[in-house]
Amino acid sequence: MQAYLDNAATTKMDDEVIDFMHQIMSTHYGNPSSIYESGRQSRVIVEEARITIARLLNVSPAEIFFTSGGTESINTIISGVLQNNEVERVITSPIEHSAVFNSLEFYCKQYNKSVEYLTVDTNGLIDLQELDELLKNGNGKALVSLMHINNELGNILPIDKVSNICKNNNALYFSDTVQSMGKFELDFSNDLLDFAVASAHKFHGPKGIGFMYINGNNKLTPFIIGGSQERNMRAGTENISAIAAMAKAFELSCSIIDETSKRVLELKKYLIHKLKNDFPEISFNGDVNSISNILNIGIPKSNKNEMYLMKLDINGVYVSGGSACSSGAIKDSHVIKAIGKNELIRPIRLALSKYTKKEEIDYFLKMLKKL
Ligand code: PLP
Repeated sequence: MQAYLDNAATTKMDDEVIDFMHQIMSTHYGNPSSIYESGRQSRVIVEEARITIARLLNVSPAEIFFTSGGTESINTIISGVLQNNEVERVITSPIEHSAVFNSLEFYCKQYNKSVEYLTVDTNGLIDLQELDELLKNGNGKALVSLMHINNELGNILPIDKVSNICKNNNALYFSDTVQSMGKFELDFSNDLLDFAVASAHKFHGPKGIGFMYINGNNKLTPFIIGGSQERNMRAGTENISAIAAMAKAFELSCSIIDETSKRVLELKKYLIHKLKNDFPEISFNGDVNSISNILNIGIPKSNKNEMYLMKLDINGVYVSGGSACSSGAIKDSHVIKAIGKNELIRPIRLALSKYTKKEEIDYFLKMLKKL
């Protein structure tokens, strides 16, 4: 028996998406930039994918740009905005994903901009009044970079409220929407925000493909320079089959958002109920109104449970202790540190998907008991 409960790290590809990707891969090998027939056919596939994604976000296709995923999109947006002399300061939070957190540190140093961090409470909640005050009291145009759904805690930041504050203070607004795309109803019309990002492998699409939304009012310097693909915003021959598969996965996920949320919320409630009953020492991290597919729990720190993730892994339970670390090592989570719980608990992030079965939850609970 196995339990895959790490769907915020990545998801299993949808069979329908695999079939579609395979079909495109075997039929469309023309370069979309070539002007002869097979190139033009590939161009149609790429542009149809762009139209599908734009329709689902209620924006113009000209505002969608394909990239290799979340991290590249984030680097493009942050480096592009900070090269602009108009922007002088960045306001963000200490609980952003490392792709945002580290990019901001790097590019702010490179382009000599200041970074200010909002405070978060012990549940990881951001005080929007503090954001408003910082924007009102500071000097110079600001970029506000605040993620929509936190990948560790599942906390949801109200995009519309942040959008109003940014608009009232003439600030640019970038939301890291990697965890919300395909899981949360999004409508970016009426200039809701300036920049957003997506990564297909988070919504049952392929890895190494994503997109960024750049509101038409903004013009950025590209991050990857070379050919004139993606209207000069991202050089390199397009990954046609992955782009088509991403649009398909996005469409499929968006069509069942309500149904999936309801189903995973039932599983999450069951999990919480069982944990509360059988493990009174376990605590819950994050906002009680977090997204339906993410639950972050804490087991009290002790010498005995140091190797907890490895022990679960040996028993076929795949969970995360924070965000996945590329080297495979377990690093303390900067998010758990930021909410002041690092010395007290060892976190376990449980992330469900449309494929999660109740038996997997039961198996996790059984192995946790053993631990
Ligand atoms: N932002 C968030 C919130 C994420 O959860 C992730 C992936 O874990 C990323 C950005 C990076 O995305 P990618 O793995 O596609 O580079």
